[in-house]
Amino acid sequence: MQEQHMARESKAKTATKGGSRPESGGKSTGKTPAPSQQAPGGYDILFKGDNIELLRGTIRHHIMSFQGRDPDRAGNEDSYRALSYTLRDALMYKWIKGQKSLYAQARKRVYYLSMEFLVGRSLTNAVINLGMQEPLHQALKTLGTDLEELQSCEEDAALGNGGLGRLAACFLDSIATMGIPAYGYGILYDYGIFHQSIVDGCQVETPDSWLRTGSPWLYERSHFMYPVQFGGRVHSYIDQEGRYRSRWVDTNIVMAMACDMLVPGFRNDHVINMRLWRAKASRELDLESFNAGDYVSAVESKVQSETISKVLYPSDDIAEGQLLRLRQQYFFVAATLQDVMRRYRKTNVHFEDFPNQVAIQLNDTHPAIAIPELMRLLLDVEGQSWELAWDVCVKTFAYTNHTLMPEALETWSVDMFGSLLPRHLEIIYEINRRFLLEVAERYPGNLRRIQEMSLIEEGPVRKIRMANLAIIGSHSINGVAELHTKLLTEHLFRNFYEMYPERFNAKTNGITPRRWLLCCNQELARLIGEKIGMDWATDLDKLRALEAFADDPEFRQRWREIKRLNKEKLAAIIKKRCNGLEVDPDSLFDIQVKRIHQYKRQLLNVLHVIRLYQHFVAHPESTRPARTVIFAGKAAPSYQRAKLIVRLINSVAGVINRDPRVAGRLRVAFIPNYGVSLAERIIPAADLSEQISTAGTEASGTGNMKFALNGALTIGTLDGANVEIRQEVGAENIFIFGMTAQEVESEKRIKSRKPIQIYEQNPTVRAIVDAIAQGAFSDGDRELFRPLVDDLMSENDPYLLLLDLESYLTCQDMVGEIYGDQDAWTKKSILNVARMGKFSSDRTIRQYAEEIWGIRVE
Ligand SMILES: *Cc1c(COP(=O)(O)O)cnc(C)c1O
Repeated sequence: MQEQHMARESKAKTATKGGSRPESGGKSTGKTPAPSQQAPGGYDILFKGDNIELLRGTIRHHIMSFQGRDPDRAGNEDSYRALSYTLRDALMYKWIKGQKSLYAQARKRVYYLSMEFLVGRSLTNAVINLGMQEPLHQALKTLGTDLEELQSCEEDAALGNGGLGRLAACFLDSIATMGIPAYGYGILYDYGIFHQSIVDGCQVETPDSWLRTGSPWLYERSHFMYPVQFGGRVHSYIDQEGRYRSRWVDTNIVMAMACDMLVPGFRNDHVINMRLWRAKASRELDLESFNAGDYVSAVESKVQSETISKVLYPSDDIAEGQLLRLRQQYFFVAATLQDVMRRYRKTNVHFEDFPNQVAIQLNDTHPAIAIPELMRLLLDVEGQSWELAWDVCVKTFAYTNHTLMPEALETWSVDMFGSLLPRHLEIIYEINRRFLLEVAERYPGNLRRIQEMSLIEEGPVRKIRMANLAIIGSHSINGVAELHTKLLTEHLFRNFYEMYPERFNAKTNGITPRRWLLCCNQELARLIGEKIGMDWATDLDKLRALEAFADDPEFRQRWREIKRLNKEKLAAIIKKRCNGLEVDPDSLFDIQVKRIHQYKRQLLNVLHVIRLYQHFVAHPESTRPARTVIFAGKAAPSYQRAKLIVRLINSVAGVINRDPRVAGRLRVAFIPNYGVSLAERIIPAADLSEQISTAGTEASGTGNMKFALNGALTIGTLDGANVEIRQEVGAENIFIFGMTAQEVESEKRIKSRKPIQIYEQNPTVRAIVDAIAQGAFSDGDRELFRPLVDDLMSENDPYLLLLDLESYLTCQDMVGEIYGDQDAWTKKSILNVARMGKFSSDRTIRQYAEEIWGIRVE
């Protein structure tokens, strides 16, 4: 009982036989006619730049027609929406134009599947990418407002947890800027990552109902509505040709409705689409309750099905194994593949060509169910053979791994999986059977290897290993930094690497320089532009030209003034959000902002803060520079240790900020509710960027790149992309400390140094740990933070905090010394920015396109 809401697109029908290319939509490829001739509603004219009157008129028109308000009495909220609709019109106009030319060229398309897109706000980014700052500034002035005020009306689209989701958003920006025919696919959560507040030092979560008043950037496209099946059973039969076939029947249906957000490229005519699925109840009532005559209960249970897209799971780097999460994954994958198929079938009848027309990138294993789902579609719906279907799958899919930590690897209990997706379980068993035959053939008699590589983990609860599935079903498996990829092939996926070495590759993460420099640090961008032009915005290697100014005293002076200005702005935010806390913009802004996680070692940072505190108290004559240590980040609501760390940070902050002995020397701020918009204000104000994870735990990091691009110096371990940042900026321009990944690995085995020895031998370390243990930050309560002290002192601390502490403290002393020499510091800061070219997500995407997707980029 599937619904017939099947999608239909308003397009020139391009029926074809045997895969011949469509001529489509009138005019041919590439060339676009003169704008004035083809702009319905005059949109091209609108964005020419000298049409301030037209712009103003359009905004006023939208205030009336969309907001239903008198334009003369509109407030900022109305103006924000009207402006967004105005810009959205421009994006839609470009999008339609672009799609016509895309269909005409029949180019291969890329589908980027991600459970998370951490977009943040869209307004300023759209204005800057469309090149409309100047005319808009003028138009808004006549309306009595400005962009900054309107921007603050926008809620963040916070549909992600952290790095993984933000990476997906940066990738879409680069894809649009480089004109690659690609689509992002994900879920439109009604509630994004929770809102964090701090009450009595503790994290308190409240729901992020960002859609409460609707988002002007979203198009709800009710004509793209697909049925998604759940549950039911598998019906097997012999078809007319005597072949064994299966069909998935008696299922419950939930509808997936497309909600689109357009993503503009930077000052080009490209716009790409991020299609997010929202769950809608299907019209049919479940037979059982309906037959029982209980209509209201039947409707109620229908409405229940809409919970699928209600809320984002708030755990970063921890797999949760909940049924609703599995439903979310299958829901968005099933809808996406129907959309992919629809588009493919417009111009193709055979499936041999599928991998030449379609590339699907899996952002982590969250969408890995796409592999058995595509198998099901090809086998059960399209009637293809297993061999062809599997060949198509492997050539189509590519998988990005994001973590080395075992607790982040997804597994699903076979029972849960089988009751929700019985046909997919059968397919997974068959994939596994065939795969293990291959393994047995290659490694005869090696049972251990078969157990390790199997898609099924045996045990009291049998589980499906999604990473193994993603590897077997993909032609490319990539890590997100060089070190990460090396560790993947040597440890976590070693068996698979030995079997399929050609599948593994490294794609070092990147960030978009548009949002993370041009938009968020406009003064610095302007100064850079003055000296070397603006080409760096789409060719970040061009920043190299800044090296020539690193020794120019006047340039350094202006560089410092901009940093100082950004610090003043952040100080104002801290005052507002941290109970009036005043911080000194002349102090060293030492910043760690990211998800709160043990492996990221915010606790190590706190130990240094306590050390500084004790130092300043004991040595009022100290010449060390004053510091403001700033933290922000969310802890997963169920992650008790992380929440205790938040509490410790706030408790230490409380004690230090109240102590007159360190006034003017040390301040600690925990800024609540870290997210993209806050990051855009915090990062430009940083002097020092804390990237201090235990070596071998952070896959890449992207926060590290954002900071360095904004002129912060990094203090960090040789972990993730820090290794490559050091290579680029030069060892003399970065503060590296601690054990290497290799040293961590061997130290965990041989335990040559134990925390207790370090504690006993080093009085500085002892004083720090004792302060926490004796309740110096908990009103004398020795119990509150005991779990953290126990972690620190444990021989089995997986994150080796005490083993890295001495090296960290020494390194921090060096930071302080060099900060004292402002000229030396500024020079390093300039050189960091000048050498960040590699970390543009444009470079990353070019590599994905050329080396994984098989797409040439101009
Ligand atoms: C970049 C970013 C992250 C990732 O930061 P890491 O330091 O790499 O963990 C997380 N959250 C937000 C809001 C970001 O912008």
